Amino acid sequence: MQTGSSWISFGYAAVYLAASVLTDRLKEQRPLRLAMLGLGGSIGTPPEGITADVMAVTDFQELERRAVEARGKIVLFDLPWVNYGVNVQYRDRGAIAAARAGAVASLIRSAAAYSLRSPHTGAMSYDSTARRIPHAALSVEDAAMIHRMVDRGDRVVVRLTMGAQTLPDAPSRNVVGELTGRERPGEVVVMGGHIDSWDVGTGAMDDGGGVVAAWEAIRLLNRLGLRPRRTIRVVGWTNEENGLRGGNGYRDAHLAELDNHVLAIESDGGVFRPRGFGFTGSDSARAIVRQIAALLRPIGADSIRREGGGADIGPIMERGVPGMGLEVDGTRYFWFHHTEADTVDKLDPREMALCVAAMAVMAYVVADLPERLPRVPAPAGR
Ligand SMILES: [Zn+2]
Repeated sequence: MQTGSSWISFGYAAVYLAASVLTDRLKEQRPLRLAMLGLGGSIGTPPEGITADVMAVTDFQELERRAVEARGKIVLFDLPWVNYGVNVQYRDRGAIAAARAGAVASLIRSAAAYSLRSPHTGAMSYDSTARRIPHAALSVEDAAMIHRMVDRGDRVVVRLTMGAQTLPDAPSRNVVGELTGRERPGEVVVMGGHIDSWDVGTGAMDDGGGVVAAWEAIRLLNRLGLRPRRTIRVVGWTNEENGLRGGNGYRDAHLAELDNHVLAIESDGGVFRPRGFGFTGSDSARAIVRQIAALLRPIGADSIRREGGGADIGPIMERGVPGMGLEVDGTRYFWFHHTEADTVDKLDPREMALCVAAMAVMAYVVADLPERLPRVPAPAGR
């Protein structure tokens, strides 16, 4: 084992908080505790909370059209699920847009494909153009309910209490292990996932299963006495969720040997039945990778899509290392992602074993090729 160093910062305290919904249609208060999680990086509220009327909108465009109504309110973004890429924009930039319109806090419908009233946390941003306001995610059910109430003319008042605070950075480390190559130990296939997770759940899907799949793959190769020509290095990257210090730290610690990184493989899409990989690199390399993937046809993991990679290997892919991401049937991933329900019971042992097989076969054959995978010529100025 060797260690790369990096820093982790937990800039959030996701809090389950007391919020109450009051409607004047009911003639009396109807207090209701909302299922909510603070978002990573958000500031907290004063101890007594922030109490304000809710303005519910579907998306950024609606907020822009009705911006004059937002002053002094808590803005709720209640966009029904489209996909992660679309919905996560409200988690990322919702507080900025709401603060620009004069809101005192912002809420989002959790970025979730399906919900059992479980809120989903995740990283969010501020920027220099807007005041920092507290930003939190409601469960899908609670967000939709408030939106319906507001739409039919009810007055909805929420008290938002968040104890979030940002603590100083503390040391954290990547975890690295390798199966040293028998002929060209200096040439490396690196693969892994991230060892950090949010405070809710245990991060079994995101990304415990992903990093264990890579680890188990080289453990099996080692036990079978299979030592490829090149080194296979497994990395558990730290701090993916909250700043990517592990991925950046790996790049910095291994700058001198990046030219000899033949391939980087990441598994960070949940543990489900594998379909294959997405690959970013030269066309000639993709043709070779396609041939290797054909070995995985019996388990249905032979697809090679045109682009692939992962957050942790992003920094070395930017330096020209070909990248690959394990692709799985993600239909249920955003049921569990970043929630209390991301626990080990959600992982199916057989699907886990198939992920291990896909990673082991791909890494072994690439590491054992007589000629290394051809690269795209490095872009000028890098
Ligand atoms: Zn992840």
